[in-house]
Amino acid sequence: MDRQQEFVLRTIEERDIRFVRVWFTDVLGTLKSVSIAPAELEGAFAEGIGFDGSVIEGLARVFEADMLLRPDASTFQVLPWRGENPGTARMFGDIRLPDGSPSAADPRTVLRRCLARAGDQGFTFYTHPEIEFYLFQDYQPGQIPVPVDQAGFFDHVPHGTAHDFRRAAITTLEGMGISVEFSHHEGGPGQNEIDLRYADALATADNIMTFRAVVKEVALERGVFASFMPKPLAGQPGSAMHTHVSLFDGDANAFYEAGAPYQLSAVGRKFIAGLLRHANEISAVTNQWVNSYKRIWGGGEAPAHVCWGHNNRSAMVRVPMHKPGKGQSSRIELRSLDASCNPYLAYAVLLAAGLKGIEEDYELPPEAEDDVWSLTERERRAMGIDPLPASLDEAIRIMEDSELVAETLGEHVFDFFLRNKRTEWAAYRDQVTPFELEQYLRRL
Ligand code: GLU
Ligand code: MG
Ligand code: MG
Repeated sequence: MDRQQEFVLRTIEERDIRFVRVWFTDVLGTLKSVSIAPAELEGAFAEGIGFDGSVIEGLARVFEADMLLRPDASTFQVLPWRGENPGTARMFGDIRLPDGSPSAADPRTVLRRCLARAGDQGFTFYTHPEIEFYLFQDYQPGQIPVPVDQAGFFDHVPHGTAHDFRRAAITTLEGMGISVEFSHHEGGPGQNEIDLRYADALATADNIMTFRAVVKEVALERGVFASFMPKPLAGQPGSAMHTHVSLFDGDANAFYEAGAPYQLSAVGRKFIAGLLRHANEISAVTNQWVNSYKRIWGGGEAPAHVCWGHNNRSAMVRVPMHKPGKGQSSRIELRSLDASCNPYLAYAVLLAAGLKGIEEDYELPPEAEDDVWSLTERERRAMGIDPLPASLDEAIRIMEDSELVAETLGEHVFDFFLRNKRTEWAAYRDQVTPFELEQYLRRL
């Protein structure tokens, strides 16, 4: 047993923890949890806990249903919302095959593999997500959900539900060791944003999974509910998960070069070029639901075109303003991701796209200086600015031919993901919606 594992066992005893949950995610980014008794923990650290993987989306083919879950002691936290006695704690777990090797279907394994590739080139990958979500009072199937307020961007609402909610959620997150940098009301009614402090991408992805659970839990405690659905309300902004990324080479920020345009190094420029060139291939992963494309194409400051800009909020990749003397904070912001992607897979494919740009020496196209939303299609075409996929169907078709995504996700996840998404698209296509009845039934 290593020191972290000993620390976990000691803490469990000292704090009288009776339940230990081990969390993991399926391929679609759904949080899963297995609860084990403290007495089982030593064995779980050594060998893992056995479970039937075939019941989890995308985890196992039936012939390899026996899986092991090995808790990762470095992620141990006591759950503050179960602070009462007896206490409950959680750790993330890694999924292993019966012979102890990592499961190819585990999203943490996919991200780890990609981070190791970056590591081979001397890079550590940091991410800082800005997570948007809506708070609703109520939802009855068939009805439009009712937001908790009518406020907008950065509004301060005295005694507002959202204000108190953010304070409670942030206190809980900090109680679990997750630092929050900013929070504010977002543009839509009932829409909020909370930004997590940057950390290495695996820790960030774990933190995002925890964040979603905390936000849902705190909402329920307060009699409201939270949703990370990309576009819950027509005509209102969708919920993004803009992510600021940087590569570090040892202690030095590899995106920083003093005196270069926007202080952006050659590595940074090539990374952006990679993100742009592969944007459409990775779209089904960064924007994985039918509904995701309603956000992308529904206005509300979502990026619908593949381009980059400096402080240009209409661009898919933005190079944020640089504070003088803050070279270490050089970073770029990818604005296409939505709040309900699988963070492990999304960070893996975006890192792979950026690394490809570096490895293959991609050249960065000129930046988009204009508001790309206000240009005509013809103007955009003349400037070489392509649209993002218009639908999940289009995104799937593009991903099917992507070597980059196949290589990054590995064969098992790649195949499962595409199969699952084709089924989702087919189910959507089969619907006759209220919109169609309204438009056509009487008229035609
Ligand atoms: N909610 C917007 C989107 O879907 C982003 C708003 C912002 O710039 O923070 O992309
Ligand atoms: Mg925002
Ligand atoms: Mg942003």
